[in-house]
Amino acid sequence: MSIARFWRETPRRYNLGGSKCTMCGTVYFPPRAVCPTCAHHRESIGKMEPFQLSGDGEVFSYTTVHEPAEGFEMQVPYVLALVRTVEGPVLTGQVVDLAPEDVRIGLKVRATFRKLREEGKAGVIHYGYKFAPAEDLPNRPPGRPRGAVGAPAGSESDRAAA
Ligand SMILES: [Zn+2]
Repeated sequence: MSIARFWRETPRRYNLGGSKCTMCGTVYFPPRAVCPTCAHHRESIGKMEPFQLSGDGEVFSYTTVHEPAEGFEMQVPYVLALVRTVEGPVLTGQVVDLAPEDVRIGLKVRATFRKLREEGKAGVIHYGYKFAPAEDLPNRPPGRPRGAVGAPAGSESDRAAA
């Protein structure tokens, strides 16, 4: 992504600013100018208002990434999740502050602002939201095989993401 595009998108990367339809109450992120739910009534035009997402949600689907995108080499393996926010919109983001094998569907998470990656030799650092656990995690007994409990990452989660 170009630096110019990154900065254009910065306000919503930093504050999760979406929009809400005052006709039906649906929340959108990224923000939309017209509500698709109400669009056929033409009533939502001009009825959208800015809406601040709380950043709270739960993991809806996830996948563990072993082959990093450029700029993410230092972070593998990492978990990329679809998070359904309490307000409704589904966000994509990295899940941090726990082992990849402890991520599960239904895990309560909260958006937190972190360094995303460094870009090129100039070391341009991008910041944005990631998701950290918002619930107490059970102590995992040492030596438990990865994926032995709950939904195996990479099967059910990949289907849900498809
Ligand atoms: Zn609407």
